[in-house]
Amino acid sequence: MGPKIWISVDMEGMGGLVDRTQFIPDEPAYTRARAQMIAEMRTVVEAVWDAGAGRVVVNDSHDGQLNLAYDSLVGLPSRTELISGMGKRFAMAEGMRGMDLALLVGYHGRSGTSHAIMDHTDSKDVWSVSVNDIDVGEFGLNAYLAGHYGMPVGLAAGDAALTHEVEALLPDTLCVVTKTAVGRRAARVIHPAQVRDELWEAARRAVLHFADGLGPRPLPVTTPIILRVSFMTTEGADAAMLYPGSARVDGRSVAVRCNDMEHAYLASRTLFLMGTGFPLY
Ligand SMILES: [Zn+2]
Repeated sequence: MGPKIWISVDMEGMGGLVDRTQFIPDEPAYTRARAQMIAEMRTVVEAVWDAGAGRVVVNDSHDGQLNLAYDSLVGLPSRTELISGMGKRFAMAEGMRGMDLALLVGYHGRSGTSHAIMDHTDSKDVWSVSVNDIDVGEFGLNAYLAGHYGMPVGLAAGDAALTHEVEALLPDTLCVVTKTAVGRRAARVIHPAQVRDELWEAARRAVLHFADGLGPRPLPVTTPIILRVSFMTTEGADAAMLYPGSARVDGRSVAVRCNDMEHAYLASRTLFLMGTGFPLY
């Protein structure tokens, strides 16, 4: 049987999309933007089956995680699995464990990155996150968790800023650049058809490399792990101090010592939930 491929699909890094009105389901622009998300997901799924995948699991990783509804699978090989909906323990990383190769599509730069479409980490209320003093965003957290499971990240797709983040952690991971931001909500976009062509090629190559024993190694992390989360508000950090074993690093920041990356990942999820939703004034 071919390798088990796990595909996490976020939205802010999809080709052509630049503005928050396109990423929020209640907004009128969302419906058309969602079509691009579905098209890129389908391209990657078709490519990995074509390259000989033995199992394909897609995890909807954006917002309420209902963007890729069951109907978006119509016409794809019927063995394609979709994890859809909210309340998943591992959120963006749900279903990762036990798979062989991770592909991260539609990803975006971490909070505080300039010239990155909709840069953020989890939500607007998270200022920064680090794992053993290395700054990470959603890409980094998921790449480290994949590493914990012994799983390489074969492909990362998003804007040019995301690519820089990938290269810093995993220089051998294949990247597809979908657009180059000229501000947080504006970019020079690459034609969506060109993006899909490049995704097809890169996803196939990632699977073929993996099957041949080539390609990137899993991202290592030394344990124990010091996870630090800084919030937009000091009130967020106050709330996050309810996490058992947490230490206050500074006004905005809380640190937690974790046994391994799975622990750190779940701690980050908990701290994000606790420390967000407070007004700036
Ligand atoms: Zn998202």
